[in-house]
Amino acid sequence: MPSTERPLPADTPICVLAKVGEASLKGRNRREFLNALRANLRSALAGVDARVTSGGSVVMIAVPDERAAGEAASRLGRVFGFATGSICLRCERDSETIAETAMATISRRRPRTFAVRVRRRDKTFPKTSSDLEREIGTAIQQRVDLPVDLSNPDLKLRVELDTSAAFVHVEQIDCVGGLPVGTSGRAVSLLSGGIDSPVASLLAMKRGLAVEYVHFSGEPYLEPAATAKAEAQARVLNGFQARKPGAIWVVPFGNQQRMLSAVSPGPNRIVLYRRQMARIAGVVAERVGAKAIVTGDSLGQVSSQTLHNMTVTEEASELPVLRPLLTWDKSEVMGKAAALGILALSELPAEDACPLFAGDKQRTAVPRSELLDSEARLDLDALAEQAADSARRVEPGVFLDRLERESRAA
Ligand code: ATP
Ligand code: MG
Repeated sequence: MPSTERPLPADTPICVLAKVGEASLKGRNRREFLNALRANLRSALAGVDARVTSGGSVVMIAVPDERAAGEAASRLGRVFGFATGSICLRCERDSETIAETAMATISRRRPRTFAVRVRRRDKTFPKTSSDLEREIGTAIQQRVDLPVDLSNPDLKLRVELDTSAAFVHVEQIDCVGGLPVGTSGRAVSLLSGGIDSPVASLLAMKRGLAVEYVHFSGEPYLEPAATAKAEAQARVLNGFQARKPGAIWVVPFGNQQRMLSAVSPGPNRIVLYRRQMARIAGVVAERVGAKAIVTGDSLGQVSSQTLHNMTVTEEASELPVLRPLLTWDKSEVMGKAAALGILALSELPAEDACPLFAGDKQRTAVPRSELLDSEARLDLDALAEQAADSARRVEPGVFLDRLERESRAA
C-alpha cells in the first residue's frame, strides 16, 4: 500500500492500471475471457468509487483519490486473471509534465538514486523509450539533486505511454494471476470448515472454476459449529467470485454415517463416508450444473488420503475429483490460509463430522471388496438423492473488505 506520509497531489488524476495475464493468450476465446474478466472486476469493485475502461489487455480503473486507489488495489487482488497492477498518476505525454508528476513519488520515497524506465504502448509515439528516459531523467535532475543509477537504482520510476496519456507508476500491486472465474465452468467444492478445503476451493477458482460449496454436517448428532465456520470461510472465498457468489449446500449427514457404520467395521468407515459424500456431491453437482468435485485432499496427509483410499473413493464418483492441494505440505496450506485471514477461523474448535462412529484406527488401504460388501446392504444412490433433497441452501454472502493477513503467514 502507498505510504501515507505525503498525500499525492490532489489535482493529478489517479488510476489503477491492471494487466491481463493468461486470459490475453486465449486465442479465439479471448473476447469471452476479457468480457468475463471485466465483469468480474466490476463486481469486485462494488461500493468503490471507480470507473473501469479497457484497451485490450490493459484495464484502467479511474478513481477520485488515493484512498479509493488503495481500495481498488485491494479489490484487484481478489480478481483472478490479472497478472500485474499498479497505482499510477496520469498526465500529458511530454517529458516536463511527466517529470513534474514524478516529483510526487520522489518527494514521498526520498530515494538516494533513481532510474527512469519507459514503456511505450503507443508504438507510433515519435520518441523512443530511451530518448524519453533520458529526457525525463534530465528534467527530474533539474528539479532535485538526485543521481541516476541504471544498474541498481533505489527508485525505479516506471512510466507508460498509451495513445492518450502517460502513466507514472506510484506503487506496484500484488495480483493473483489465474483465469477469470467462470471461464472454466463450475465445480462443487467440499468445504468442511477445516484448513485445507477453503484453500483448495480458492485454487479451483484461480483456474477459472465458479464454485458452489457442499458441507456435510454431523446433524443430528453434532452441533453445527463446523457449519458456521464453513459459512464464514465461504463468505471470504466468495470475495474472489463476487459476480456470482457460491451458495453452500449444508447436508445433514449424521444419519447416513450411522447407517454406514451399522454395515461396516470401524477402520473402514471413513472411506465409506467419503464414497457416499462423493455420491451426494454428484447429485448436488447435477442440480447446479457443476462438472467436477473439488476436495482438500493432500497425498498421504491422513489415512483416507493414501493413493489407494483416494482411488477407491473416486470410484464412487461419476464426476472427476479435483485435488488442487495434492502435492502441498500442511505448512504451505496454513501459510495460504493465513494470508487469506482464515487460518484462525479454520482452527476454532468444532467437531468434525468424519470421525463420527468411525473410531481412531482407520486403514490406509481398505480392500475394495469389503467396501462393496458393506455398500450392497444399503441403497446408497437413493440415500444420496435423499441427502441432496434434505440439504439446506445457505447464501453466505460476499466479504470484500480488506483481507487481514494473519501473523503466521509464510
Ligand atoms: P480439511 O481441513 O479441508 O477439513 P482435512 O485435512 O481435515 O481437510 P479430511 O478430513 O480427510 O482432511 O477431508 C478431506 C477432504 O474431504 C476435505 O478437504 C474436504 O474437501 C472433504 N471433507 C471432509 N469432511 C467434510 C465435511 N464435513 N464437509 C464437506 N467436505 C468435507
Ligand atoms: Mg477435515
